[in-house]
Amino acid sequence: MSNLVQQLVGKGVLEKEKAASLEFEIKSSGKREEEIILKKGITSEDFLFNLKAKSLKIPLKTDIVAEEIPLEVLESIPEDAAKHYRMIPLAKKDNLLEVGMIYPEDLNAEEALKFLARQGNFNYQTFLITPNVFNKALRQYRTLKGEVGRALEELKVEFKEEKVPKTAEEFERLAEEAPVTKIVAVILRHAVEGKASDIHIEPGKDRLRVRFRLLGQLHASLLLPMKAHPAIIARVKILSNLRIDETRVPQDGRFTANIDGKNIDFRVSTFPTTMGEKVALRVLDPEVGLKKFEELGMEARNFEVVKKAAQRPYGLILVTGPTGCGKSTTLYAVLQVLNKEGVNIITLEEPVEYFIEGINQSQIRPEIHYDFARGLRHVLRQDPDVIMVGEIRDEETAFLVSHAALTGHVVLSTLHTNDSLGGIPRMIDLGIKPYLIPPALSCIIAQRLVRKLCENCRKEVKAKKAIQDLILKEIENMPPKAKEKIKIKRPLTVFEPGGCNKCNKAGFSGRLAVFEVFEMTNQLSEIILKAPTVENLQQEAKRQGMVTMFQDGIIKALQGITTIEEVLRVAEER
Ligand SMILES: [Zn+2]
Repeated sequence: MSNLVQQLVGKGVLEKEKAASLEFEIKSSGKREEEIILKKGITSEDFLFNLKAKSLKIPLKTDIVAEEIPLEVLESIPEDAAKHYRMIPLAKKDNLLEVGMIYPEDLNAEEALKFLARQGNFNYQTFLITPNVFNKALRQYRTLKGEVGRALEELKVEFKEEKVPKTAEEFERLAEEAPVTKIVAVILRHAVEGKASDIHIEPGKDRLRVRFRLLGQLHASLLLPMKAHPAIIARVKILSNLRIDETRVPQDGRFTANIDGKNIDFRVSTFPTTMGEKVALRVLDPEVGLKKFEELGMEARNFEVVKKAAQRPYGLILVTGPTGCGKSTTLYAVLQVLNKEGVNIITLEEPVEYFIEGINQSQIRPEIHYDFARGLRHVLRQDPDVIMVGEIRDEETAFLVSHAALTGHVVLSTLHTNDSLGGIPRMIDLGIKPYLIPPALSCIIAQRLVRKLCENCRKEVKAKKAIQDLILKEIENMPPKAKEKIKIKRPLTVFEPGGCNKCNKAGFSGRLAVFEVFEMTNQLSEIILKAPTVENLQQEAKRQGMVTMFQDGIIKALQGITTIEEVLRVAEER
């Protein structure tokens, strides 16, 4: 009988009859007995490891604050060795390293530790630690400040040994060296692991600031000495094939990096400021930016209208809203619905954000006169069924887009307007003849992004009086069909963010759009031809049963998907 199982039986924690089958399971799993015992929930980690400490006669250490393990102590055992042998340095007094181990009885681990001690010229004393403590301590290898801090230390040494670089060639050489590549790699990995959408590397008077945009908001994360600035910028430029010696004009580029086994694209843009060159990187993680149509979060009516529009053999589907409101995620989702064998899809994008198998994606380059209008003329000669045009912003593109929609193509594009109704006057502004709009247009989608509440820690609370009034008034204004679907609880409750380990104490996790979808109808066509005023358009929207972005937000807030505050931040009553 194995040692721990035997002891558990002795302590009366495990019945004797069950011990044999447990032992068999341990043997056949090839795993360690501690793992199986804990996985099956036979006893707590603390109880099990107290037993183990007694039987091995090694003290169990539990009072460890992982965050307080100094970096130079962590470095006594490299991360991969720590991970493999489940041992971690905890403290160093004089030349004695205290090492916490989950399996101090493991002879291979002991050999490895002996080897490291000889190499690093230290003595050691081992302690037993629980897997929980080990995992917390292991994470310390990966904190942003820790990793970058270590790389900076190395960089300092290099600056001392040689002279500080001055020419572009010297910077290029430095940018290729280990500490700088490490700093940039760590910054990229932290952005992806933390689900940041953007990274900003900004020179200041005496500090280089690194900020991450998380769920739409910028957070300062790291301050580096300005000395590191040219080398870090040069490294990013090398990765994205930009000119290192050109620092006076903005440049755009792109590169792919493998992070935690996934290929992630980064779109890079440099910008000269009075303090030096600034770099912004957009993180293009397909897991964040590419969603299925069903995952967009469209309520029943919106979902049906857009689906119907996508299934028509021709017609224009427009998405409107400001930059960064998730328009491309929606366009890509609709494109994926249309993406079938036998359908020729061509896109003109500026720039291409995500690559989708089976779609012909083309990046326009206005600087060499390959713009949307010119691209569109060529696309039409490529026998397309579906065309996506990144944005309609001039009359020529507007004319070509409406022409394509009228001649048997499904066309997807975007417009810069605040709401869906605004799309109609904007199209007329762009020179599209009003009588061409009804036959060409299928629907207009407007959207904004709100932060999604973490489902694990959101709290349901009674709504304050003012919020109650606001919600009830807005529900009253909704079209009958939408109103019917809402179940109003008494008292009226809304949701608030909590903060847990799953959402990194943020209370929010990911983002989702609130939508309004305006459908082309016979009534609308009459309005467009006679008097396309805001009042008339609004009346038709209501008749259609269109829910405004604000109302869509209220519905989502009542369901606990987001908060009322988020909805108020991005949309307004109308
Ligand atoms: Zn949470």
